[in-house]
Amino acid sequence: MSMNQTTETPAERRYREGMELNNVQARAEERAAEHLREAAGALQMRFAWCWDHGALHHFPTREDPWCTARWSWLEGNSETDALADKEVRHGDAKFLHQLPDAEQLKLITRQDSP
Ligand SMILES: [Zn+2]
Repeated sequence: MSMNQTTETPAERRYREGMELNNVQARAEERAAEHLREAAGALQMRFAWCWDHGALHHFPTREDPWCTARWSWLEGNSETDALADKEVRHGDAKFLHQLPDAEQLKLITRQDSP
């Protein structure tokens, strides 16, 4: 007859099958976790205030910012936090001309990508 099969007791067989099932389950869980990390990464956003659109922008962290106007990065992982940071840094200013001259100049002459 065949090799190992004949020497394996029913208890050993149940144990082996249990272990195999555990491995399959562990691999499936690993894959699921990987998919979740992927999805979370794709959804991750950075926030910026746009001085031309006078609005909060959401930029996916994995992509180049889609707005080519003048904007400033904001700290925070949520819209609420980002808006609070904008308030602290720039007060009620919404558009470029509402900023102090020095700030405007900095934004206008910025050569590097922000
Ligand atoms: Zn914009």
